[in-house]
Amino acid sequence: MFFDILTLFPGMFEGAFSDSIIKRAVEKQLISINIRNIRDFSHDKKHNSVDDYPYGGDAGMLLRPEPITNSIKESKKSLVGCNPKVVYLTPSGERLNQNIVKSFLGEKSLILLCGRYKGVDQRVIDHYVDREISIGDYVLSGGEVPAMVLLDAITRLIPGVLGNLDSAQEDSFYGGLLSHPQYTRPEYFEDMKVPDVLLSGNHAKIRQWQQRKAMEITQQRRPDLLNEGN
Ligand code: SAM
Repeated sequence: MFFDILTLFPGMFEGAFSDSIIKRAVEKQLISINIRNIRDFSHDKKHNSVDDYPYGGDAGMLLRPEPITNSIKESKKSLVGCNPKVVYLTPSGERLNQNIVKSFLGEKSLILLCGRYKGVDQRVIDHYVDREISIGDYVLSGGEVPAMVLLDAITRLIPGVLGNLDSAQEDSFYGGLLSHPQYTRPEYFEDMKVPDVLLSGNHAKIRQWQQRKAMEITQQRRPDLLNEGN
């Protein structure tokens, strides 16, 4: 999958994508990531300004439409044939969950638009954005961290990215529940013992225990998941 990220702060992505699973996914050519600086697409060549005051007298600044639409057009040109969807990361979007993450898996390419300041001019959203995604009910300073969250969540579900895709399918939310507790060696740690059932070698019993624990934890912490069938 091709990701084209439109941002005012390309440097923020350097560390985030240069290690671990995302780095390996790029090396294996399972994903490709291109970062574009929205500032390069400003018509104001002298100051490269990208923002202006909002109509209506609200405090703060808004991203002007033209640097964003120019960068989207350039991105679409480079992804011709891939039918890229434009995703704007915004607190007003659909709240991200594992089902929404899975719904992106059929895409060949995504353009991730990171807002800053008070956000972007509504006309960009109305005419250029296919989907608006929020990573939660709080406000961050920019869309860069949300774009990293979305890219990571999608990437780990692409076949071949994780050593064992089953591992992702056992994670929280994949089957609609939170994950059951996990233990590793040593068997005893500070007088705490790994539950006997996990040492029994009885796979049917282990599976039953894991399902019961996942159900208990979900009931305690996220009963909404059981009601929504998320
Ligand atoms: N005025 C906007 C509002 O009230 O919805 C908030 C703007 S926020 C300070 C700046 C940018 O950060 C947004 O344009 C968006 O790209 C990003 N952002 C902030 N919180 C986010 C969230 N929870 N999910 C996704 N993007 C977020």
